[in-house]
Amino acid sequence: MKAHTKETQATMTPQKAIQFLKEGNQRFQSNLKANRNLLEQVNDTSEGQFPFATILSCIDSRVSAELVFDQGLGDIFSVRIAGNFVNEDILGSMEFASKLAGTKLIVVLGHTSCGAIKGACDDAKLGNLTTMLAKIKPAVEAISEPQDKSLRNSKNLEFVDNVAKKNVALTIENIRQQSPVLKEMEDNNEIKIVGAMYDINTGAVSFFE
Ligand SMILES: [Zn+2]
Repeated sequence: MKAHTKETQATMTPQKAIQFLKEGNQRFQSNLKANRNLLEQVNDTSEGQFPFATILSCIDSRVSAELVFDQGLGDIFSVRIAGNFVNEDILGSMEFASKLAGTKLIVVLGHTSCGAIKGACDDAKLGNLTTMLAKIKPAVEAISEPQDKSLRNSKNLEFVDNVAKKNVALTIENIRQQSPVLKEMEDNNEIKIVGAMYDINTGAVSFFE
């Protein structure tokens, strides 16, 4: 598999980009890898990059976007932060990736058993982490079940994963509300913004569609 070029990027559509990622995740789940020579891709991308998607995912060591979607050099922009939320720096990075560098898809990728989500569920406090987790709290508050306070913590994995899914949905809302640039691109069908969840037990990504 060759690195993406100006030509392949020009024929890329948001739907095709989702398809590429789905196929890559299928390969990953089957323990197959596209036949690519990374060193050759270093050379092929030295004059420029033409990636097709931007993926916002967690820093979790098990959820590397390039690996779980079987992508090579020059294929995706990868933004990673614990709890995959957005702030103005991350939105700026996404605006660069979409408006200036031409990617056609933004994926907000949450995952099961996320430590950052667990921290927010438990109201963990530690240095700068306290401020960071506050950005995930709205997702915790938005999940109404269970109401029993003793079940609303990281020991309840079903609750944790429901909060993680909600966090993906709220992050997408925040992208649309806080980035007029990306909102306009989406309204013009130049890009698509989609959510997805990675299952750390199976390696499978399910897209919210
Ligand atoms: Zn995580």
